[in-house]
Amino acid sequence: MTTPLDPAAVIAEFIDRVSPYNPHPDAAPVAVVGVRTALGEDVFTLSDHVIRALCRALESYRDPEDRGDCSGCGGRHLDENLHCRDCGQLHGILGQVIAEHARRVAAAGDDPQ
Ligand SMILES: [Zn+2]
Repeated sequence: MTTPLDPAAVIAEFIDRVSPYNPHPDAAPVAVVGVRTALGEDVFTLSDHVIRALCRALESYRDPEDRGDCSGCGGRHLDENLHCRDCGQLHGILGQVIAEHARRVAAAGDDPQ
């Protein structure tokens, strides 16, 4: 279940949070962003300062499920254990530990003793 979210309210709060730091508060707006959801719609006129801040915020966002790319197949679906759902490769410390353990087990199996 996802938490209820009012995108227009979030954008309005973002503008309120960023606008006080606009070095040119009297400059004309340079962008218009409209948001329409089931909760209603809003249109925001944004200063250069705010639209740049919004773009930087969007660029820096990473999905919580984004754990990087698989070095084996290039897939983008690593689970919480850094296990690739596409090809099965393990990544990170756990993947290294398991791979080393598998090598030791295989080497011990090859040992004639
Ligand atoms: Zn993979």
